[in-house]
Amino acid sequence: MAHRTPIESGCPDNKPFLHPKLAKNYGNWKYHDRPRPGVLHHVSWDGDEVWTVRAGTQRQMDVWTVRKLCDIADTYADGHVRFTIRSNIEFMVGDFNKVAPLINALSESGFPVGGTGNSVSMIAHTQGWLHCDIPGTDASGGVKALMDELYTEFIREDMPNRVHLSTSCCEINCGGQADIAIIMQHTKPPKINHDLVANVCERPAVVARCPVAAIRPALVNGKPSLEVDEKKCICCGACYPPCPPMQINDPEHSKFAIWVGGKNSNARGKPTFMKMVASGIPNNPPRWPEVSEIVKKILYTYKEDARSWERLSDWVERIGWPRFFEKCDLPFTKYLIDDWRGSRASLNASAHIRF
Ligand code: SF4
Ligand code: SF4
Repeated sequence: MAHRTPIESGCPDNKPFLHPKLAKNYGNWKYHDRPRPGVLHHVSWDGDEVWTVRAGTQRQMDVWTVRKLCDIADTYADGHVRFTIRSNIEFMVGDFNKVAPLINALSESGFPVGGTGNSVSMIAHTQGWLHCDIPGTDASGGVKALMDELYTEFIREDMPNRVHLSTSCCEINCGGQADIAIIMQHTKPPKINHDLVANVCERPAVVARCPVAAIRPALVNGKPSLEVDEKKCICCGACYPPCPPMQINDPEHSKFAIWVGGKNSNARGKPTFMKMVASGIPNNPPRWPEVSEIVKKILYTYKEDARSWERLSDWVERIGWPRFFEKCDLPFTKYLIDDWRGSRASLNASAHIRF
């Protein structure tokens, strides 16, 4: 067979970077358990043991913090680390005697050890203004403010089941499904800077982007531009990334919404999509107290009311949406919990450009 050169894209092979005991026992584990919150313990059929110590990080780290984590890894874990999808760092050690000194070193440097099992894991943190061109808020600040308040739930495993939180600093892109999600919500259509559209935007691409076909080409002051049918616009912000002159971020009208009940896992039930349960919450930096208050109310109501091993979506499924709104002291309006089952009819579901 002809030799194929590797394609320079996609994930690199992780095997050369694994802890030697993980590489040796790949797919050969007898069991695993958690001796304490923040520590995973794997035992192989050959008798090898590996302890994984998980600590929370702020995800967007300066070079000194990264060096500090690397020094801890070199001193206590022979340099073996990996990051989880929720921005936790995990240190792997093959010797039980190294676990306690590693936990002490992390705690003394300000990295909380936890995030395993039935804890509130680190919030899946969208990139925000540091890496992305369209955020309507500061995702890092929101994550920091909320995790300061949920710190004890990260280092303990006291929840009915694991709780995954996420942020999304725009309405349309990263963030993903979570038990509780905090999502930017635009409430006014974009404002168009007609002087720039012809120079900056590919107009057919912008027109095709709109899910409700609200954008049309237009001639404004003799220049090619675009116009928005504001009665159709659902304020999603999808036109703003390909066309920055269609500014939708607004200090007053860009708000927050809270969604609940999403999960990716197949455990005990199928994966679920989250649904919106609160909206119009002020985008109020630097601590976003209104957002924290609602998230904590939902979280602690779930903690108190759910049965063991119920994920948030299972709990809502059991008690029903009306009881969820009552118990969490949230007002219910007809705009909430829509799951878009009718979206084939209401959204632009074909690839054709319509004018
Ligand atoms: S959620 Fe949106 S704005 Fe935030 S980082 Fe992702 S794409 Fe960018
Ligand atoms: S893409 Fe979204 S924000 Fe832009 S015009 Fe269409 S519905 Fe409105």
